[in-house]
Amino acid sequence: MREAGLRVGVDEFGNLIGSRPSELGSALLAGSHLDTVPQGGMFDGALGVVAAIECARVLHEGGRSLRHPFVAIAFAEEEGYTFGSGTLSSRSLLGEMPRDQFSELVDRSGRTYDEYLRARAHGLPQAHVPAQVRAYIELHAEQGPHLERMAKQVASVDQIVGSQRTVVTFEGRAAHAGTTPMDRRADALLGGAEFVLAVNEIATASNGRGVGTVGELHAYPGARNVIPGKTALSVEFRSQDDTWLTSARERADGAAGKIAGRRKLGVRVTPWTGSLVQPMDSGLQQAILAAMRLAGHDAVTLSSWAGHDAGILARYVPSGMIFVPSTGGISHAPEEHTPWPAVEAGTHVLLETILRLDATDGTGGTLPLAYAAR
Ligand SMILES: [Zn+2]
Repeated sequence: MREAGLRVGVDEFGNLIGSRPSELGSALLAGSHLDTVPQGGMFDGALGVVAAIECARVLHEGGRSLRHPFVAIAFAEEEGYTFGSGTLSSRSLLGEMPRDQFSELVDRSGRTYDEYLRARAHGLPQAHVPAQVRAYIELHAEQGPHLERMAKQVASVDQIVGSQRTVVTFEGRAAHAGTTPMDRRADALLGGAEFVLAVNEIATASNGRGVGTVGELHAYPGARNVIPGKTALSVEFRSQDDTWLTSARERADGAAGKIAGRRKLGVRVTPWTGSLVQPMDSGLQQAILAAMRLAGHDAVTLSSWAGHDAGILARYVPSGMIFVPSTGGISHAPEEHTPWPAVEAGTHVLLETILRLDATDGTGGTLPLAYAAR
């Protein structure tokens, strides 16, 4: 960031900020996140950060000034792996994760989010994300197969799909796996097994409108010679259609109740949480598509089936995303790759979009920054 002429600092939520001041009030923000998942690849998140810095470097080395301040940002925690809470840094920044809950978020070693934030010793000056923002643009790997299948190098994102998630718990009776006859059992895991299939059926029947996953399943007490007395399953649905999400939720609730009734198990569905479909700013989509056409690309638009910081910022300021392909549609794996010519194409479109936005006067918006000390 320093080599790209940016003034570097870190804010109180651990977000790395590189800024290039200018005369106008509202800033052009570009970036992504720097955290990853266990066994993740090198492109998810980091690519968007590096692309934003590369844009700053090109402007810096070309001696080109912008009317708007430019800020490259690297969000610290987006994946949600450490504390089980996705887009944590951007939601903390915007007050959507209240400060009094920081000490309730705990990692696998028992360390709290609050402790992490207090313990940081990066040796960098304190910095702040500007409140007045003309636009936020995030370049990211698609993490799916569509761009590669279409043989395209870059796309503009029209929306980030909505998602709903919960935990379903079936309760039966733990008992000896040898001495309890089959007709005297209340095996909670059998309810869980049926429910996994039900979630899959609900999503499969949507014909591409939605996806559904049980990604975590725990049987208690979890011993070879004990019939599971309790099982807890995570359920997640995602869709481009809020109506489908609502109906998927209802059908999952119904299936859980039916399975529990038939198998004489207790069942508990914790309240569903999640987000609605988040459209990207239409003006920004037009700017990205125009930049794509200028660079000789077809005007390709895709929806994002993964959540991103852009989906959080989009609630307050014009936000847009640029997708580049993921080889084999693979992400969250060491094999994750984006062909370098596509990386170059996407970064070029990012720079061209920044220049376009800089040349026009837009309204922008205000980020409700949750900084304690300013
Ligand atoms: Zn990501």
